Amino acid sequence: MTHSDETEDNSPAQQDAKHYAFSPLALTRMLPFLPLSQGTVDYEVDRRNDPGLIKKLLNNTAAQLMLVSGGKVAVPHGQGAVAQAESVKLRLAMIPATYMRDFIEASQRSQQSGTGTGSATNLRSPLVVFLGTKQGNAAKSYLSLTIPTSALKAAEESATSHATPGTHAGEPLPGSLLGDIVRKFDWVDLRDFAPRASSLEAGLATSAVSVSNWQSYQRFCPQCGARVSPANAGWAQRCTNPDHGEILFPRIEPAVITAVTDSQDRILLQHNKAWKNPKLMSVSAGFVEAGENLEHAVRRETMEEVGITLGDLAYEGSQPWPFQRSLMVAFKARALTTDIHVDGVEVDTARWFSRDEFTMALANGEFELPTRAAVARYQIQEWYGQEL
Ligand SMILES: [Zn+2]
Repeated sequence: MTHSDETEDNSPAQQDAKHYAFSPLALTRMLPFLPLSQGTVDYEVDRRNDPGLIKKLLNNTAAQLMLVSGGKVAVPHGQGAVAQAESVKLRLAMIPATYMRDFIEASQRSQQSGTGTGSATNLRSPLVVFLGTKQGNAAKSYLSLTIPTSALKAAEESATSHATPGTHAGEPLPGSLLGDIVRKFDWVDLRDFAPRASSLEAGLATSAVSVSNWQSYQRFCPQCGARVSPANAGWAQRCTNPDHGEILFPRIEPAVITAVTDSQDRILLQHNKAWKNPKLMSVSAGFVEAGENLEHAVRRETMEEVGITLGDLAYEGSQPWPFQRSLMVAFKARALTTDIHVDGVEVDTARWFSRDEFTMALANGEFELPTRAAVARYQIQEWYGQEL
């Protein structure tokens, strides 16, 4: 079989292939929009093994760089103040990679030579991640740079004290660059950013925050205790112990989240004691135990929290939740029993809602829904049958 034929192939198989290409929600389509599950870049995983890739991209005029710090992403100044307004669209502060090249390379050199003094200009461990490429006529590659919160804080203090930004003696770093970043950008939590961003940028931000959070969290080899350094274009780590030298990959903690309905198609909503908002009602969720499968976790959590026995389960979709490192796996389940027994430890209230009861209670302000970032919001919406 050859591919020389230029006529378009409209076979059902080809149509399916087009339909599902890079569509992160292709598996079930029960939840057609999940803000942190968008992502339209080609990860180009094979390029991550090129040790010179980051250097090449820092010299590539078509490469763009986004900033991450403390789990937040940089947006143009002014957007931070409106980040929670529902109708507002947000965009990332994108910087040409070439503009950041000298800064990043100088930081890397000062780290390697041990000359860093811990000043605001010194990123002790500059983490640069290759996020992937948006293919097309004007293909663009994307990088993220993690700025330690301490470096950002020092730059902010320096800016407010009106100190003259400049290069520190013996440190070949553009001292004004972090000052520029402080002045020109706001920092927005991924949970506020993703629901208001384009799918491309929501995906980039989710990848960048996930990798950055993991790299910040795991700084030593879990097996031998030696320091680790970034590997595979930021997506992995290498143990620096020459006798070990393993490549380490991110550890993701799966959690199940379940919309439970009964034979009358009422939904079960609950309030967890740990939630700060006393009015928040949502669906059942919990971490998967070691050695447990997803289905067991769903049944166990619902039994533990509200005393309900579940029958059939259906997979609805999944969404990364990098706070710190979860993957939320969403299910819909049919309850075999309806008597609620809250555990009083994790959950303090739970009740069944018909659609009419739900509409009325929501309108009366008796409860509030999960945020627009949360998969639970879209599970409740899927049950309700229209956008909330
Ligand atoms: Zn090791």
